[in-house]
Amino acid sequence: MELFHQKNSISKRTETILKKLSERGHSKIVNGVSVRILSALKKGEVKVKDLGRLQAATKHEYTLLRGIGKYGERVLIRGTPNQVGLPAEYLEKKYVWSGHSHPDDTSPSQADRDALSAFDQECSVIVSVYESSDDPKYKTRTFEQIEDWSDWLPS
Ligand SMILES: [Zn+2]
Repeated sequence: MELFHQKNSISKRTETILKKLSERGHSKIVNGVSVRILSALKKGEVKVKDLGRLQAATKHEYTLLRGIGKYGERVLIRGTPNQVGLPAEYLEKKYVWSGHSHPDDTSPSQADRDALSAFDQECSVIVSVYESSDDPKYKTRTFEQIEDWSDWLPS
């Protein structure tokens, strides 16, 4: 007989965020991607480092935006297992793209760099999850609009 036990038990904090997303969030289709949006979050209610835990808990990508100013509204968006749409209204309102999660690596895609450029932003953060038994590991990486070739250019 096989015993099933819950892998990666979800923290109270992650659980609370997911509950808010389901109760207060709203669903929307953005560029063909089905997303769920939770807006009007206060500073600290959801942080970039939560994105990895949310990703680990639900296997969906998450993104976090911030309204203008240090205490600007935080907006959490849940995407699909491998992509997340950024609603244009946040671009127009000059929100900051704080970060997003990836399922298994921290390499930015061309779409990520294009989005960063659309936000007219120098850099943003990718949080990724490395699953290892019951103890997932998280990695973060800052990426920029232009790929950094300096590692291989002849000096
Ligand atoms: Zn990405």
